[in-house]
Amino acid sequence: MPYEHKRKPEWLKTKINVNHNYRELKKMMRGKTLHTVCEEAKCPNIHECWAVHRTATFMILGDICTRACRFCAVKTGLPTELDWQEPERVAEAVEQMKLKHTVVTSVARDDLADGGAAIFAATIRAIRERNPFTSVEVLIPDFQGNWEALKTVMDERPDILNHNLETVRSRSDRVRSKAKYERTLELLRRAKEMQPDIPTKSSIMIGVGETWEEILETMEDLRGVNCNIMTIGQYLQPTKKHLNIDKYYTPKEFVKLRKEGFARGFDHVESGPLVRSSYHAHEQVKSAQQSTAAGQ
Ligand code: SF4
Repeated sequence: MPYEHKRKPEWLKTKINVNHNYRELKKMMRGKTLHTVCEEAKCPNIHECWAVHRTATFMILGDICTRACRFCAVKTGLPTELDWQEPERVAEAVEQMKLKHTVVTSVARDDLADGGAAIFAATIRAIRERNPFTSVEVLIPDFQGNWEALKTVMDERPDILNHNLETVRSRSDRVRSKAKYERTLELLRRAKEMQPDIPTKSSIMIGVGETWEEILETMEDLRGVNCNIMTIGQYLQPTKKHLNIDKYYTPKEFVKLRKEGFARGFDHVESGPLVRSSYHAHEQVKSAQQSTAAGQ
């Protein structure tokens, strides 16, 4: 079927806000040569997260990804950078921003034997040393199924282990490059096995050609590996070269999905048109930690 351009619905329009907080964060990120997924992935929430909440998601291990997923705006190519000072600079930025909760993600570094796990571990340590009261969430790549690498990260006991499924099973090969639906589930299962009391989290974007039933099946697959937190958001095409949008879900449908998620036993479900993996992440930590501890 030929692709017909769909007009962006009202509920997806966001307000631009480049206030003092926004400018200050931008200046600090550049000053410390740090990258954020907020900017690199063209996140629609940047004006809210940066300007209103003064929060951002750090993207470590450089800004060039070895994969080229069809939904993602991050630059792809062959990275050269491996910067062992980066963990300390992230920790300083967390201190400067006075964050209570921080989210750290990375590009996929398939060129490195451990996929960058050692730098993730060093970043968690550095943040904790400078900011003992800040909770740390890591949104990790799949390390190509290198479970030793996963263990390196889990041994640092992040407050939340986040790894995204991104889409339903039937759309996975089309939407993602190299990542595998089953491997993602396996990673979440193993993370839980390694550290049962650490909440796990995963996200999907919808609007890429999945059915409603398939979204519900995905929830069940995630609960099948004891995943505690799920986030669901609308896929937005970052540029014309990226995957087309198949459907815009309404805010009401997102509310329904939230209920479906809770009915399946997630401790927390964040579901809304503009929800992203790290959107309102600080608010999810406590409820998930309490429920996970209660279920021990
Ligand atoms: S939702 Fe996440 S990625 Fe987007 S601006 Fe907020 S912190 Fe950054």
